[in-house]
Amino acid sequence: MIQARQYLKKNKLKEHIPRFSQVKLLTRFANFFKSISWKSPKIIGISALGVIIIGAGVFYLSTTVVAVGITVNGKNLGYAQNKAEAEQIVQEVLRKHGEGSGQVAQTSDKIEYEKVRINKNEYAANIISFAVLLNAVKPYINGCAIQINGETVVYLADEEQADSVLTKYKEYFTKPSDTNKVDSAEFEEEVTKVAVQVHPNDLKSVDEALDYLLKGDAVEKEYTIQKDDSFWLIARKNDMLVEEVLAANPGFTEDTIIQPGQVIKLTKVEPLLTVVSKGTKVVKETIPFDVKTITSTKVASGKSVVQQAGKDGEKEVTYKYVEKNGRTVEKTVVKEEVITKPVTQIIAKGPVVRTVYVGTSRGSGSVSGLQWPLSGRITSYYGYRSGGFHSGIDIDGVTGQPYYAASAGKVVLAGYAGGYGYCIIIDHGNGVATRYAHSSKLLVGVGDQVSKGQNIGLVGSTGKSTGSHLHFEVIVNGSTVNPLNYLP
Ligand SMILES: [Zn+2]
Repeated sequence: MIQARQYLKKNKLKEHIPRFSQVKLLTRFANFFKSISWKSPKIIGISALGVIIIGAGVFYLSTTVVAVGITVNGKNLGYAQNKAEAEQIVQEVLRKHGEGSGQVAQTSDKIEYEKVRINKNEYAANIISFAVLLNAVKPYINGCAIQINGETVVYLADEEQADSVLTKYKEYFTKPSDTNKVDSAEFEEEVTKVAVQVHPNDLKSVDEALDYLLKGDAVEKEYTIQKDDSFWLIARKNDMLVEEVLAANPGFTEDTIIQPGQVIKLTKVEPLLTVVSKGTKVVKETIPFDVKTITSTKVASGKSVVQQAGKDGEKEVTYKYVEKNGRTVEKTVVKEEVITKPVTQIIAKGPVVRTVYVGTSRGSGSVSGLQWPLSGRITSYYGYRSGGFHSGIDIDGVTGQPYYAASAGKVVLAGYAGGYGYCIIIDHGNGVATRYAHSSKLLVGVGDQVSKGQNIGLVGSTGKSTGSHLHFEVIVNGSTVNPLNYLP
């Protein structure tokens, strides 16, 4: 300001000069008049001419003005009243150009100020315009370029801002915290900061620069939903995060239903820098509970009951890592501490329902001399009963009591068989077979050859049974018949 005032003062003084010259000129005329003889007609003529000249001079001085012309690179852009005013307007233009950078812009354009006397009307018509000057002057400011592998990617106002961008970039991916001790974070690329002169419009703020480095030149592509796709799977396939997939498709949430064949957008973000970080993390991890299945005859066939609910445990894991832009590339567990132990889930399953395939023989159906498998009271006969069709006879017995093969033959089934419980089928040939059900224990296996009267199992109450007994069937060519017709 002081400088500007001084300029103004200086300039006002200069403005007086032409008026001073005007006085001097008049004095000269006066002296000239004194020295001549006024009686001569020649002189009268000269005097008249003098008056005309003086008049013209006065007229010239009263219709013109002293001004300062402003030229940029040799081109006159207009006039200011004086140099101070001209310089002030140029400063304002440079300040305007630097606005937002916190600097007054500079220019390498050649700006000149020339004092002139011009016609008042011409002056009035060509008063320097701020807008014209703003447009004409090419500004630059001092900036700092961030270069990646020698190539400038972004301009900041100064080195401090550039450093701030790079630090924030590292923090974005490393996320240091109480449980994440970052030992080192280095860029994989060669990053340099270079002092430059830059057009103010090319400057980016710290946040803008950070955003640009993180996203790079985002590439948008389309993706066709595949069968069994989920947002998670799509993200996995495209090396993206679920949030990124959703963000590229306005209105989408994790609950949005997607259909195979549907086309969605994927905006692939490729950060310009890779932060390789090393450190130690302490994380709480879940210990998933085990599931143990037991078979229980107390549970209905095909059903299952949770006997003991499982509960996840928790452990604290300390590991050393190497990450690239937040993705783990190396992980070494250094310590593991169980906080709570998991509780095993126990599921009790009912006996497995198996389709009983019995490869029994086919034939005449003649069998000679079947013997009773168990001696005991018949508690239920073959045929229709209140509960439906009864395919055999029930012979009363106590659990653990031995029963016997009705005839010699080959064991074709020995195992649990749904409602029959533990059960045996013996093929006797000629299309005749016998079945022994609800056993507590089986003493033979599939493929065994058994002789007539051999102890093959023990009485029980397994399967669909209300008390210990032996359910005995005679099967001829795949269909049950009344056993009493075959027993002595
Ligand atoms: Zn029965």
